[in-house]
Amino acid sequence: MKLITSLLLFLSLATTSLASKGSPQTAEDKIAILETVYSNLYNAMGMNEDRPVLRLDTRRSRSVAYLKKNKDGSKTIAVEEKAFDVCMSLGEDGRNALAFLMAHELGHFRYEHHWGGEFASSFAIADIQEEIAEASKKLGELKFYETQADQMGGIYCYLAGYNIAGIGQKLLPKMYEAYGLPAINKKYPSLDQRIEITQENDKNMQVLINVYEAGTYALLLGEYSEARRCLQHCLNKGFKSREVYNNIGVASFLEAAELIGKDEVIYAYPVELDVESRIQTDNKGFAINVEELLNEAAKKFEQAIRFDPEYATAYLNKACVFSLQKKYEDAEYYGKKALRIAKENNEQNTTGNALCILGITYHQMGEQADAEAKLKEGKNDFANYLCEVNMNVVKGKRLESIEWIKRPTEGLFEAAEQTEGSLDRPKRETLDGVVDFMEDLEGEELEEVIIYKGSCYYLYLESSKILNLTTVNDEELYFQVCNKGYIGETEKGITIGTETKKVLKRYGTPDIAIPTRSGMLYYYTNPKIVFFTSEGKVERWMVYRMY
Ligand SMILES: [Zn+2]
Repeated sequence: MKLITSLLLFLSLATTSLASKGSPQTAEDKIAILETVYSNLYNAMGMNEDRPVLRLDTRRSRSVAYLKKNKDGSKTIAVEEKAFDVCMSLGEDGRNALAFLMAHELGHFRYEHHWGGEFASSFAIADIQEEIAEASKKLGELKFYETQADQMGGIYCYLAGYNIAGIGQKLLPKMYEAYGLPAINKKYPSLDQRIEITQENDKNMQVLINVYEAGTYALLLGEYSEARRCLQHCLNKGFKSREVYNNIGVASFLEAAELIGKDEVIYAYPVELDVESRIQTDNKGFAINVEELLNEAAKKFEQAIRFDPEYATAYLNKACVFSLQKKYEDAEYYGKKALRIAKENNEQNTTGNALCILGITYHQMGEQADAEAKLKEGKNDFANYLCEVNMNVVKGKRLESIEWIKRPTEGLFEAAEQTEGSLDRPKRETLDGVVDFMEDLEGEELEEVIIYKGSCYYLYLESSKILNLTTVNDEELYFQVCNKGYIGETEKGITIGTETKKVLKRYGTPDIAIPTRSGMLYYYTNPKIVFFTSEGKVERWMVYRMY
């Protein structure tokens, strides 16, 4: 069992289905809800500077939501109270609708859309119409801006865990009615056109999400170049976030480490995804490729940092690259920076990992006492397992002689010890009756997304989604994920909503456990299944196969 702590594998799990506790009455209640949605979105954007001030506009009712530049240069993002109420009238989708509105404005903000020289935008046509008249923008241009804002907004919503698929269709007619807006207007896309834009956007988003997920799952399986190709495709299509950059960097780093081989990579780096497979790999001797990969990794981590200068994970990962490149001073600099930021933000895992890379670096520099001090601190104060492993390394042990599997992180897997019934695991897991992907899918038409040097395919079944990638070695990777509302169960009786403890009892200790933003991910190689959990419960699972 390996507990990977720093690899920020970002898997948006769309967990924000907070039960509505009656409609909010006071302005204070409303502001609190708005603030939460706004913070989630803004954090997902990975921008720290220049954050617009949020406002619930209780006086105006003509713009729905707007973004404006104040006289002192600061910016305000506002949602009108009337629009807020319309959003909340969608019940369960209320917060998704608010996210949809605000993310759209944030999309304009990100692109710095200007109208008539003034930085201003509003969701409704009422305001924008005057601005357009001033700037004499053509309808086509406006549609372009609106599409861009919707697109960027859609990405922020996904990253923040809000599900906005179909929201435009539900919300826009209600909004137009409440505001008495004409369905057809010469100077602005009509209501129907506007709904069309959002539907088109939904579709594009879904395709990007499929490629993004395929890439992330490929990374989990150690298929690094496929992971990179998928994630790079997302970046190229505008799905830009610090997590996407970071994960590409991680894929490059892990591939480089694998190519360098066990004789040279003697430490367990805190970006590791699958240390064991690397340990079993001999030096493949692709020196030029390795340097390229490491430079690529460093570049991607740097881009992640540019997105969010307070993103400790990216500093940590960059330190790992420098360590592998034997640039010790740089490794120390980035390790220290990661440590400071992680401590300030009270990020326990990353703090432990930063101590880990500093320990590794000091050992490389021949400073034995400093190395041991850092690793000891990480091990004792932050219960960092990788610090413990590397402590053994700096004391002269070889990585492959350290017993990983027998030392699961304390507490976390206690439940796995008390096995429930027999631990004989099923040989394979199935969803929607698919046993053999090659045979059972014969005749099915999978949708193709062309990515760099290949394709990614997807297929929606009744209660699941299938993703397929062909690797450069002509291996077929299949991932099948159950839908959110899936009511079936796994071979061992796990359903959506089952407590995590039960998964561990029935399936035993996972091969890999990765903390995600909202919970944990448990990865099993026998049977080939991955559970995604949130707040102690199973949220969905995925089965995978390689041919
Ligand atoms: Zn707009």
